[in-house]
Amino acid sequence: MNTVTTAAGRVRAVCEFCGRQSRPVVPVDGRVWLLDLPRGWSEAPYSPTFTHDDGSTGSLWQCPACVRRLHRGEGLTSRAYAAPAALPGGEASPRP
Ligand SMILES: [Zn+2]
Repeated sequence: MNTVTTAAGRVRAVCEFCGRQSRPVVPVDGRVWLLDLPRGWSEAPYSPTFTHDDGSTGSLWQCPACVRRLHRGEGLTSRAYAAPAALPGGEASPRP
């Protein structure tokens, strides 16, 4: 998942690489707003209606640590593609 909604109705961005979560921010139009995140977080913009392989929708997020690794030239693999997780409800997508 690329975001987690808290019980208080706030939203945490989830790093697409390591799964680290940001502090909760007040969603704008139901989504995380990049400028509300702490310095260093980065966004891979997607349409809010775009659905990823893991069932999450909208933009992908990268935590400051992973952004630094990317800038150093490391090739990081998105969790969505590295380890497709079974979706709640049993709709696991089979992989070749
Ligand atoms: Zn990360």
